[in-house]
Amino acid sequence: MSRATVIILSPDRQVLAYSLYDGTNDWQTHRLWASQDEAWAKWDTDKRPKCSCKGDPCIVQSTYGGVVEWEGRICRACMVLTEGFGDSPMFPKPSPEWP
Ligand SMILES: [Zn+2]
Repeated sequence: MSRATVIILSPDRQVLAYSLYDGTNDWQTHRLWASQDEAWAKWDTDKRPKCSCKGDPCIVQSTYGGVVEWEGRICRACMVLTEGFGDSPMFPKPSPEWP
C-alpha cells in the first residue's frame, strides 16, 4: 500500500521533475511535476498525457524500498517520462489510462 517519490534527474544529476510510484498497483506515473508536493497531490487524478516526443536522456531515481536508479527519457515540454518503464520485473509499469 505504499507509495514513493520518483525523482527525475538530468545526466549531470540536476533534479528535473518528480513522478510517483504506487506500490500497490506497481506502476509509476508518466506525468511529471515540478514539485514533490504536486506529484503526491495529483498522481491519481491525471490522465496519461499524450506525448509522442522522443525526449532527452534522464536518470529515473526511485526511492521505493531503497534508492534504485535506471535510465529513461524525459519530454520537458510535455512534462512526461517517455521511456524508463520496465521491460524487467524490477522496473515499474507505466500508469494505466484513466477514463
Ligand atoms: Zn512531448
